[in-house]
Amino acid sequence: MKPASMKAEREQLLATMQRLVQCGLNRGASGNASVRVEGGLLITPSGMDVEAMLASDMVFMNMEGEWEGESQGARKPSSEWHFHLNILKQRPEIGAVIHTHSMFATTLACLRKDVPPFHYMIAVTGGNTIRCAPYALFGTPALSEAALKALEGHRACLLANHGMIALGGDLKEAFDVAVEVEALCEQYLRALQVGEPVLLSPQEMAEVFEQFRGYGKWAE
Ligand code: 13P
Ligand code: ZN
Repeated sequence: MKPASMKAEREQLLATMQRLVQCGLNRGASGNASVRVEGGLLITPSGMDVEAMLASDMVFMNMEGEWEGESQGARKPSSEWHFHLNILKQRPEIGAVIHTHSMFATTLACLRKDVPPFHYMIAVTGGNTIRCAPYALFGTPALSEAALKALEGHRACLLANHGMIALGGDLKEAFDVAVEVEALCEQYLRALQVGEPVLLSPQEMAEVFEQFRGYGKWAE
């Protein structure tokens, strides 16, 4: 197992968790994050309040799912390590995974609602719809399987009765996706309270993807 190096990556992962709390996307020990590093991933520790987390609490896990043991003074990895590991294994273009229990994404997830193309910025998630994965118990391989399926070809999904997952090439990108998904969920929920949001057609969404091409960080 690797020694407790990768100081910069550990600090960046901690800073991302702190920013998620500052932005109101997570609180307490809710949510978790991971980042791809040489030989595996760094993942946030399980059951720790973000305010108490130190960079040295970030847990290194190799691609076989083995982590630094407590005997070496390391924390246990997030209970959601299954989906973090499996996403990074199966999606080579992804370098960071963020999971939140943010208010509006979680509210829609409790309604088990997909988020349809009611706004063109849905395109930042890589598809026309943010899917809601079926319910599975937190911390299980079943949740990982459901999440991976909902994330196919996408950079975000909702988790029924739980929260959301956002992906990016790096932590900054994944953070930006999480913030945008939360905003979209708030907008969709508010629109639903007034009436039936008018959806963009597949043709209009195709034009959005075309318009993004070559411009921003979301273009494929
Ligand atoms: P961990 O503290 O184990 O990461 O759990 C938080 C969570 O969000 C579980 O889904
Ligand atoms: Zn969770």
